[in-house]
Amino acid sequence: MTSKFWSPVVDQLDPYVPGEQPQDQQYTKLNTNESPYPPAPAVAATLAAFDCEALRRYPDPESLALRDALAAYHGLAREQVFVGNGSDEVLAHAFQALLQKSAPILYPDISYSFYPVYCALYRIEYATVPLDAEFRIDIDAYRPGNGGIIIANPNAPTGIALPLDAIRRLLANNRESVVIIDEAYVDFGAESAIRLIEDFDNLLVVQTFSKSRSLAGLRLGAAFGQAPLIEALQRIKNSFNSYPIDSLANACALASIADEDYFQQCRQRIIDSRERLAESLASLDFKVLPSQSNFLLASHAERSAQALYLELKNAGILVRYFNKPRIDNWLRITVGSDTDCDRLLDSLRQILG
Ligand SMILES: *Cc1c(COP(=O)(O)O)cnc(C)c1O
Repeated sequence: MTSKFWSPVVDQLDPYVPGEQPQDQQYTKLNTNESPYPPAPAVAATLAAFDCEALRRYPDPESLALRDALAAYHGLAREQVFVGNGSDEVLAHAFQALLQKSAPILYPDISYSFYPVYCALYRIEYATVPLDAEFRIDIDAYRPGNGGIIIANPNAPTGIALPLDAIRRLLANNRESVVIIDEAYVDFGAESAIRLIEDFDNLLVVQTFSKSRSLAGLRLGAAFGQAPLIEALQRIKNSFNSYPIDSLANACALASIADEDYFQQCRQRIIDSRERLAESLASLDFKVLPSQSNFLLASHAERSAQALYLELKNAGILVRYFNKPRIDNWLRITVGSDTDCDRLLDSLRQILG
């Protein structure tokens, strides 16, 4: 479809397509990397006690309480913290604020498929850098002279993490460009680059409450970096939407941050389930990439990923299939509860015979 009323850019967009969100709830959903566990109990208590009358007012446009809580949590200053309506919004602002340069930006050939979408929206030129044969990122292939670099660590949909010294080398090799590290999955076993912020004025770290904090429905993301980078994001945000974080999201996020024990428990349970699931998949003849995230990328020795995806869907289990070069024979499987994982394994045993 097109229309003479559209601005020219609309025709040129190739919008991101998220994993299916069936509204009938009859699937075991292992396709969008949501948490199998509820948000911290304090989040439910916050919602129950929320004064509806307060919705009459606009929220704090600067989300100061939330930014202060995140700053304290990570040992940063308020001026080094930005929050947005999901990390997708934070990333969009970062692309516009920090990556719209004359030289092309760089990111891996296999990575989060929203990156090319932002490039089209903001008309940013990019070049992709191939992962190696084992789907690993080669840091030294990110040569200076680029307009910026964005890397998901752990990478998606491979799940493979880079150690912190590799990120440090990437930053040191590219002092003239902004390097964005998208840490959507960092809490499942990788090292955060936040501690490198004091040494590198070109580093922006982006995180989300959607995965490890079980709050995908709340829409909350954050960015961390030295004050001038955060100020750039604030200027874009304040030219776009003064109130991206609503009052409920502010209150629930604070409650989530306050319950550190629950957070640690949930992420450890997912890590344990991931290791069990990886072993079981290997015993069913899947090659499974080493994951530090809450999903596994797996490829069966004989059966095509697309066929398995469809058969699992018929059996009521949704996993993610990407019809894309290099990964079109792989399935991305979210680590669910142990019950979810067992259901998946039972179905796979039936399908594989
Ligand atoms: C899930 C995800 C995001 C986006 O998360 P939000 O729900 O928008 O906070 C960003 N980057 C990667 C790599 C992701 O997988």
